[in-house]
Amino acid sequence: MSMKTRALYSALSFLFRIKYFSEDWRGVSSNNFPVNADDYPTGLGIEVTNLCNANCVFCAYQYRERPTTFMPHEMFRNVIDQYVGLGKDKTGIGLTPVVGDPLVDRDLVGKIKYARSVSQINNIHMTTNAILLTQELFDQLVDAGLNMMTISMSGFDPREYERIYRNNQYANVVKNLRAIAHSNRFKKCQIEIGLRTSSLFPWLKKEYWEFRSLGFKISRNWFFDNWSGKIKEDALHGMMFLRPERRSKRIPCTMLYKGPHVLADGTITACGCRDLEGTSELRLGSLKENSMAEMLDSGKIENLRQRFLNGDLPDVCRDCKHYSPATLKY
Ligand code: SF4
Ligand code: SF4
Repeated sequence: MSMKTRALYSALSFLFRIKYFSEDWRGVSSNNFPVNADDYPTGLGIEVTNLCNANCVFCAYQYRERPTTFMPHEMFRNVIDQYVGLGKDKTGIGLTPVVGDPLVDRDLVGKIKYARSVSQINNIHMTTNAILLTQELFDQLVDAGLNMMTISMSGFDPREYERIYRNNQYANVVKNLRAIAHSNRFKKCQIEIGLRTSSLFPWLKKEYWEFRSLGFKISRNWFFDNWSGKIKEDALHGMMFLRPERRSKRIPCTMLYKGPHVLADGTITACGCRDLEGTSELRLGSLKENSMAEMLDSGKIENLRQRFLNGDLPDVCRDCKHYSPATLKY
């Protein structure tokens, strides 16, 4: 790390630690803690596939060991039916895989169409690298019912893209973004471009302003998760940093109050963020053996929350920098 990079990292880490302290303090000082447990789950994650067409340096996809799987259409419908059968009303689903790109699933439009036909589902969101996001597919997805999308890409520089996303599709992604911005469905879907960039000033590129003026919201990531120790600092480039450590994880993780994640093979895990293989202590079971209601009523979620309070974290959570405490609001 150069002196300039180290100075920036120190400044950003300092701000992050203040944020951590304030989050922890709000949690410990609240008599209402833990909150919203009765509303659980407030959403559902569904992994339509665990296959990806990129291989980002900051992502644990490169370490995934479970077989490549596409969720069968019937299983997807069953998942949606079981979820709304829990009594959920006006609830959202996320189609972002633990690792994988949802556009690789050729049945994605059909799946979204089914989810949209269920009146209790409101928001349908997914994150994609946009390599396959032609205007034609975008229109089909929006017509099917997709209304929120995050596009993950590097800064607007082909060499940087190749270094971070480890494929040669930069020109294609940029072409896709321009095309969807000119689609008459563009305003029907809330879209944010999330830059995973190594550049200090990504806004110095003309494409940054071009896409802003086309109507994209653009954000950037400074900090990246270590995927429970799998991603090391030296895998990241330039202005990409690992999130600083927290002093304490005595408050249950916010993920345990949001909703479970159904993996492409029917495994259900309490946290779709970092349970890469679906085999950690966060695993609640499989739809091939039990219903979703049985798994959520089994007491496992409550037990996982209690383990945080007892200081006995599941192994996958110990070194997870994606942790955030379930404080009053999330
Ligand atoms: S596109 Fe997404 S899932 Fe694929 S390697 Fe990159 S971060 Fe991971
Ligand atoms: S600490 Fe990490 S792995 Fe554990 S529940 Fe939270 S986000 Fe998931």
